[in-house]
Amino acid sequence: MLFARTPAVRSSDQIAAMRRAGRVVAEMHAEIRKAIAPGVTTGALDRIGREVLRANGATSNFLGYGHPPFPAVICASPNDMVVHGVPSDEVVLVDGDIVSIDCGAIVDGWHGDAAFTAPVGQVPAEIQRLIDVTEASLAAGIAAMVDGNRIGDIGAAIERVALAAGLGVVEGYTGHAIGQAMHEAPNIPNQGTPGTGAKLRVGNVLAIEPMLVAGSTETVVLDDDWSVVTDDGRWAAHAEHTIAITPEGPEILTLL
Ligand code: MG
Ligand code: MG
Repeated sequence: MLFARTPAVRSSDQIAAMRRAGRVVAEMHAEIRKAIAPGVTTGALDRIGREVLRANGATSNFLGYGHPPFPAVICASPNDMVVHGVPSDEVVLVDGDIVSIDCGAIVDGWHGDAAFTAPVGQVPAEIQRLIDVTEASLAAGIAAMVDGNRIGDIGAAIERVALAAGLGVVEGYTGHAIGQAMHEAPNIPNQGTPGTGAKLRVGNVLAIEPMLVAGSTETVVLDDDWSVVTDDGRWAAHAEHTIAITPEGPEILTLL
């Protein structure tokens, strides 16, 4: 079989450091969420993220990431954009849009990473439901992060919630272990078979991030080499937390 790498086991001190990073990410989310409104640009939301990082003495794990180097501290992905949208002063949010915000922080060398999708003004009920089911699928994935479970249990739980609601799980993008790098092995798929894959243990820290759609689960990358959109133009929602497996169960680190 292909090697199924087990996620690293972190000490309680290391998890405490990741909790500090996670709180900065949660503060970025809170401040950006407050600012999301018709007429706001995604470039302005990025500047809010930069200010929260600066005020906390934290650095960005998004800025400069990858090739070409990502130019911002948040990904802002409206409507049919699934993930990795590049913020811009030319992207103006309008009433009825949705926007997914994904961002992270590094504190003392340890990383946090989380995402949410929010409505801009008023959205149709079926679009709000897409957001709500995406959050429910994330919660189900988190609930499966129990010592002794396997990675496949997480994806199976996410997929079960999506399919029960008549929605699809985007192909080709996954969650990941996280620690002293944002993306550590192994990947944590948003689909899976219960009881398969590497075993989960107390001390594992994972970023779980379902991306759900009502239409096609296939995507296309735009010419900026970052923006990922659905191939049928229908809208997508994304939700993510960084979570530690503790002796008491899963602890979300990216909450205030
Ligand atoms: Mg993320
Ligand atoms: Mg992530």
